This record gives sequence, structure tokens and C-alpha cells, in this order.
Amino acid sequence: MTRPFIFPGLSTRVVFGHGTLAQVPDEVARLGHARALVLSTPHQESEAQALARQLGDKAVGVFAGATMHTPVEITDQAVAAFRAASADCVVSLGGGSTTGLGKAIAMRTGADQIVVPTTYAGSEMTDILGETSGGAKTTRRDPAIRPEVVVYDVDLTLTLPVGLTVTSALNAIAHAMEGFYAPDRHPVTEALSREAMVAFRDALPVLVQDPQNNQARARALYAAWGCSLTLGHVTMALHHKLAHVLGGSFGLPHAETHAVLLPHTTAYNEPAVAGLLRPIAETFGGSAGAGLWTFAKSVGAPLRLVDLGLREADLDRAATLATANPYANPRPVSRDGIRHLLQQAYDGECPAAAHE
Ligand code: NAD
Repeated sequence: MTRPFIFPGLSTRVVFGHGTLAQVPDEVARLGHARALVLSTPHQESEAQALARQLGDKAVGVFAGATMHTPVEITDQAVAAFRAASADCVVSLGGGSTTGLGKAIAMRTGADQIVVPTTYAGSEMTDILGETSGGAKTTRRDPAIRPEVVVYDVDLTLTLPVGLTVTSALNAIAHAMEGFYAPDRHPVTEALSREAMVAFRDALPVLVQDPQNNQARARALYAAWGCSLTLGHVTMALHHKLAHVLGGSFGLPHAETHAVLLPHTTAYNEPAVAGLLRPIAETFGGSAGAGLWTFAKSVGAPLRLVDLGLREADLDRAATLATANPYANPRPVSRDGIRHLLQQAYDGECPAAAHE
């Protein structure tokens, strides 16, 4: 029987291809704007400067201070630069950190956003903004946060280091994984998430050997789009909660943390939703959790929280924080269960499908 669903519609315009960076000036004009502030991290400043030159008189400057977890102090500086330059939109060139800064500016100024993603993290299609202030990270959802235009240029991902290629892809797969059992999933997220699993499975082993492989880069970026769309349209659960706790309260790196947790959070929920996670099991082989762990290992992903800087003494507090407030999850979230999950992720063991 066809499951009832609500499809909220898609509001973000997407341009996907090779060399599409050249279309950014037209996209700015298409939105009716003429004064773009280009955003990047310090690491990608030269690319941002080149894009500003390409925009010519449609660019009013570059702000290259984007950083992980969108600290409000940086946002304040960027908003001041946006206002001082009388900018009328932002062009965010980079990964999730740069996209986050663009969203934070948009929330404060109403600016339209054009995002040019260069990782697979998947922030560009979402209405989600995480910000840090005084060491605490808060996340909110608002339609005003969702970017107006996303320009995917495969060529820009050729420089993504192999390590970040792998962890960023697993970060994206985590969006699809939780999308499969999200209560508000719909056929668009289900279909794209299925396609994304297969595309990442095929592309990642190629990219580990040959990071410049154009076809595999295209497959991976296409998969990232599907996962980002899923993240932006459905409700996330245990996996994203745990990643948020480990990143926000223990300072663990974003993509790597998602990568390590993914097989374990999948295995935790699998007994409750094995049928819904079947696309993952079928794609990667074995059970969904063990299949993801084996795949992650085969592409050289980090497997142990200890390697990301977490201390074993932190596991109790992490389990307590992750279970302090109730939230919807397909399998009941117990403190003992999460403590066990974290221990397995800390040690890097292949997760066995847990039983309720
Ligand atoms: P990132 O944006 O911090 O990028 C990591 C580093 O890689 C940076 O120095 C960046 O300049 C560099 N880099 C990016 N693309 C590159 C390329 N193609 N070649 C060479 N270097 C490149 O990392 P990320 O994992 O993309 O993003 C993580 C951040 O995104 C976190 O703050 C996370 O909370 C946020 N995020 C938010 C959402 C959302 O929906 N709100 C979704 C996913 C991630």
C-alpha cells in the first residue's frame, strides 16, 4: 500500500554540473541583485577572491573569516562588513562552515544566499542553522535560513583532500540514513537517499585511489545533493543528536565525528526499523550498521572516537547529555544503551545489530 505523505515542495533553485561557477554572476542577477559579498574560510580566500573578480561590479567584497560551528562573534564581524559594503546578497563558497556563516548573515539581514558547496557536508539545501555563543551550540530551523540558490560545480571538489572526502561523504550518508526512518519522510527524500547510497558506495573507493577522477567526483556531489535535500526536509533523530553533543560539548571535529558514529547509531536503531534501513543493508552488504562499518573501514575512514580526541572518562557525561531531553527516535533511547553505543564507537568495534 502506498504510504500517505506530505510533500512540502522545493524552494531552492539548483544548478549542477562542471564549470557552473561561471554561472554565479547570472544567478546573482537572476535574483535581482548587484552587490554580492563573497564568503569563505581563510583557507579558501584565494578562490573567493577569484570569484569576486569574476563577479566584477556585482561583487562588493570578500569576507574570508568563516570558521567551524558559526561563532556569533565572527557573524557579527561579517554582518558589519555586509552592511558597510551595502551588500544585497551573499555568495558562500566552501563547506558547511561557510554556508553556516551565510545563513547566519541571512537571518540577521534578510539577505538572499547563493551557495557554492565544495564539500559533501550538506548544509546548502537545509533550513537549519547551528551557532555557537560562549561555548554553547544552539540549532534552529526557519524557512528564512534556507538558501535561495545552490550552484554545484563538480570541478571545485577536485581539491577536496581524501580524508575530508571520505568523512564528509559519511556525514552526508548520515542524513540519508536518518531520513529513511524520519516520520516526515516522503517519496522525494526516499528516492534520492537510495540513489545517494549507491552513488557514494561506487564513487568513494574510486576517489580514495584517484581523487581527481571527474566522474566519481560528479557521482559523489550528486549524492551529497540528495542527502542535503533529505536533511533539509525531514526530522533527524539519535545520530544527529549524538553528533551535536560530541561536537558541541566536547569539541570533536564535525565530519569525522559523524563518520565514526554512523555505523553505531544505525546499528542501534536497526532492530526497530530494519525494513526501512534495508536500502542501506542492500547497498553495503550485511546488516545496515555492520555494512556501513565495513565500508567505512575499506575507504580508510576514522573508526574510533578515541582517535578524535575524546577521553574514555567523557563517555558517561556524553551519554547523560545525549539522553537528558527526550526526543523522537525509532528505538527508545536509554542511557545504558547510549553508553554502550558510545563505548563501541570509542573502541572502534564493528557494531552488532542490537536487540531491544
Ligand atoms: P568546513 O566547511 O569547515 O571545511 C573544512 C575545511 O576544508 C575548511 O578549511 C575549508 O576551507 C576546506 N575546504 C572545503 N572545501 C574544500 C575543497 N574543495 N578543497 C580544499 N579545501 C576545502 O567543513 P564541512 O564538514 O563542510 O562543514 C562543517 C560545518 O558545517 C559544521 O560547522 C557543521 O555544523 C555545519 N553543517 C551544517 C549543516 C546544516 O544543515 N546547518 C549541515 C551539515 C554541516
